[in-house]
Amino acid sequence: MVLDKIAAYVKEHGVTKFKYHTWRKFDNGRGEIRILVLDDGVARCEYQCAKCTNIGYVEAEWKRPFSTACAKCGAKIAVPKLRDAMKREMKKGSAEAGGEE
Ligand SMILES: [Zn+2]
Repeated sequence: MVLDKIAAYVKEHGVTKFKYHTWRKFDNGRGEIRILVLDDGVARCEYQCAKCTNIGYVEAEWKRPFSTACAKCGAKIAVPKLRDAMKREMKKGSAEAGGEE
């Protein structure tokens, strides 16, 4: 697994409740983004840049639509918009269910 910071955070803090969680690939699987938002309203965002393959982690105020920039090349990192994505996210329902994709 390339992205492991959020997984480690969830494990370390025993996170079972969260406001929002998503884990997606984009740009044909070259890029990856995972976001975990807890009750503190902070988005913990981990990504792999599709452009330069840099792996980064940022914490920022949670807002929609969420996006950040690659710390290395500055490329925009955003959650891909998929019409049915919301439904699938609702079904998942666990921050610990990593590694499904
Ligand atoms: Zn980059």
